[in-house]
Amino acid sequence: MNLRYNEIKVDGYERIVEVIHEEAGLHAIIALHNTSHGPALGGIRAYPYATFDDALNDVLRLAKGMTYKSAVAETGTGGGKSVIIWDTAKPKPKELLLAFGEAVNSLAGQYICAEDVGMPISDLAVIRKGTHYAVGLPHPNSSGDPSRFTAFGGFLGVKATAKKIWGVDSLKGLTVAVQGLGAVGMRLADQLFWDGAKLIVTDVNKEAVAKAVQMYGATAVSPDEIYGVECDLFVPCALGGILNPDTIPMLKCKGVAGLANNQLLTEADGQALMDRGILYSPDFVINSGGLFNVCVELYKEGYSPLVARDHVMRIYDLLLTIYTLSDERKQPTNIVANDLADYNLERKIGKRESEVTFHHF
Ligand code: NAD
Repeated sequence: MNLRYNEIKVDGYERIVEVIHEEAGLHAIIALHNTSHGPALGGIRAYPYATFDDALNDVLRLAKGMTYKSAVAETGTGGGKSVIIWDTAKPKPKELLLAFGEAVNSLAGQYICAEDVGMPISDLAVIRKGTHYAVGLPHPNSSGDPSRFTAFGGFLGVKATAKKIWGVDSLKGLTVAVQGLGAVGMRLADQLFWDGAKLIVTDVNKEAVAKAVQMYGATAVSPDEIYGVECDLFVPCALGGILNPDTIPMLKCKGVAGLANNQLLTEADGQALMDRGILYSPDFVINSGGLFNVCVELYKEGYSPLVARDHVMRIYDLLLTIYTLSDERKQPTNIVANDLADYNLERKIGKRESEVTFHHF
């Protein structure tokens, strides 16, 4: 295959590679932010980015977020991510996926890939043919789709946030507004429903909205309306950057606890939420359930869903600790979470001590 690689230098990042395979239609970027605690692990996002710079900015933010997520979760992995510039309305050609697998393989284990938005695990299984540096595969020895673990971690995170704000152990009587009803949003909505929450939902996908209305008695609103609805908790589960100077003044909730990556447009938006008396659950902490899950398959002993579930349960206490520290220091929760990650990175807490093992052969 005729793959072309262009190295891109960005301060603060270990390695960034643009990957092109013209015949296969592949145009991708793989970003390694920090591998001091272990190999970079992060999903592959396929998205119809308008420009190359949009794709580059997204992969840089996502890769750095993975460093922080891994450091706080102490998974012995580093921060990395990849993006493929692709119109996700169209199926991806097999050649494109195989070429991307070859590109991941050429990094010789510095980067371990997984699913993300626009990259279902069926596509990941094709990428796997070109590299074994992949996790979360539809294979009996792999951990499968991480979404249900991410959603369970999100459920615990919503409960921890409700505990902090109202001192309650159940969501009964609380109104929760969910943005995005995809792989994690719909699963989380299901758990919120069974715990007694009243749901308000939105998605650009009308079928997903209709399903939530039918199954959970949810109230549907348009994607633009979700920011201004009267609710107790707002749960963003779609794309990033949605907490910003335009949307934060519109919010009528007491807490934000959702699973989307990079919800804050800038770190200053964490302060803006705090100033409005809105408790923010740092995204890379509440959404670390899927990462916990895929990392268990790298153990020498192989994957165990029981071990993965028990790791995910740490999210509840981790968030309550961050909320307490935020009160004590009078600092926004996103800053406290960043400090926690830096603390672990500087002191090598959670650094990988053993080699990673792949069992999906
Ligand atoms: P997905 O593609 O399955 O779902 C995203 C949903 O958001 C889709 O239903 C889509 O129609 C909807 N959406 C898109 N734009 C929207 C808009 N403007 N308004 C309302 N809805 C909109 O993706 P996913 O796997 O559920 O991931 C959702 C978010 O959670 C992403 O930010 C992802 O990075 C993050 N995340 C996912 C996992 C995981 O395990 N899947 C882990 C960590 C973080």
